[in-house]
Amino acid sequence: MSKLFWSPGLEKLEPYTPGEQPNSQTLVKLNTNENPYPASPEALSLLAQGDFADALRRYPDPESCELREAIAERYNLNNRQVFVGNGSDEVLALSFYSFFRRSEPLLYPDITYSFYPVYCQLFDIEFRTIPLRNDFAIAVEDFAGNAGGIIVPNPNAPTGRCLSLDKIEELLGLHPERVVIIDEAYIDFGGESATQLIERYPNLLVIHTLSKSYALAGLRLGFAMGQEHLIEGLLRAKNSFNSYPIDAIAQQVATAAIRDSAWHADNCGKVIATRQRSEQALQKLGFQVVPSKANFILTKPPAPGAEALYLALREQGILVRYFSKPRINEYLRISIGTDEEMDQLIRNCKEILASQS
Ligand SMILES: *Cc1c(COP(=O)(O)O)cnc(C)c1O
Repeated sequence: MSKLFWSPGLEKLEPYTPGEQPNSQTLVKLNTNENPYPASPEALSLLAQGDFADALRRYPDPESCELREAIAERYNLNNRQVFVGNGSDEVLALSFYSFFRRSEPLLYPDITYSFYPVYCQLFDIEFRTIPLRNDFAIAVEDFAGNAGGIIVPNPNAPTGRCLSLDKIEELLGLHPERVVIIDEAYIDFGGESATQLIERYPNLLVIHTLSKSYALAGLRLGFAMGQEHLIEGLLRAKNSFNSYPIDAIAQQVATAAIRDSAWHADNCGKVIATRQRSEQALQKLGFQVVPSKANFILTKPPAPGAEALYLALREQGILVRYFSKPRINEYLRISIGTDEEMDQLIRNCKEILASQS
C-alpha cells in the first residue's frame, strides 16, 4: 500500500547498510572503524560546559566560518578552499551530484567503500569498477580510458592499502578535465595526504572526516578541500538542499577538535602502535594480513574460516565486520581497538581456532 505513494524508482533503490550499532555496552565493538578513545579533551570540555542556550536559539552560521578557518589553517589553505558537511557521507553525496553526473562513467575500484554505488544509483550516475590486483593493490594505470570522474579512498576501504602521493599524481594526470576525489577517511593513520597537491591540481578534491581519527563519529562532521571553483560547485548544491547542515554545537566542538593537533597526533600514534602489534599477533595465529595504513586490518583467518570465526566471535561478544561479497568473503575487517580489546580478540581467536582442530 505505502509504495503507492512513492516516487517512481524509489522502490528499486538499494540503500547502504552500515555496520551494526548494538545497544549493549559490554560488547567489544571492532566492526565500524570507530576510534576506541574519547575525543580531544578541549572538544569534550566545551560540551561539558553546556552553555549553548543562545547558540541553539538562533540558526547556526550557514557558512561555518570559524570551523572552515580552523581547517584551512591546519592544512595551509584559505577558507574558500574548504567545504564542510554533515559527515563526509553528505559531502560525498553532494560531490557525486556536483561533479559526476556525466555521459561517461565514474571509475572506482571493485573493492571499495560500498556507499559509492548507492550514490550512483541515487543520482543516476553510470559507473565502471576497476578490479584491484590479486594482492588488493590499486593499479593506477588501469584507470586510463573513458571516465566521467574518479573516486578512490586512500587508504582504500576495506583493504587498508595505501597509495603514495606519486601514484595519486599519476591518477590526477590521467584525466585532467575530470574531477578526481581522494576520500581520505583513514589518511591520518600512516598515509600521506594529497592536500599538499591541491595548489597544483584544479581537478583534485580531498575529503576528510572527523569520524575516525578525531573520535567524533557521533558529531557528524566531514569536509572537502580543493581549489575554489570546486568548492563553489559544492556550495551551489548544498545551498539548494540544506542551508544549515552543521548545527551550532557541532561547529564549536569540531573547531576545538581540529585545533587540538597535539591530541590528534598522539591518538593516531596510539592506534598505529596497536595496529602493528595486532598484525603481528594475528600473523602468529596463521592469519594472512593485508598491509594496512588505516585503523582497521583486513585479514584472512585460517580454518574454520572468516564467516565461522565472525559468528563465533559474535557469540562471545566481539563484533568484527564480515562482508559476504566476492573476493573478500574469506576475510574479516577488524577495527583497531584499545590494546586490551585487541588482546581479548586475539585470545578468543586462539581459543576458537584451537577448538576447531
Ligand atoms: C567512514 C567512512 C566515510 C564516512 O565518514 P562519515 O564522516 O562518518 O560520514 C567516508 N568514506 C570512507 C571510505 C569511510 O570509511
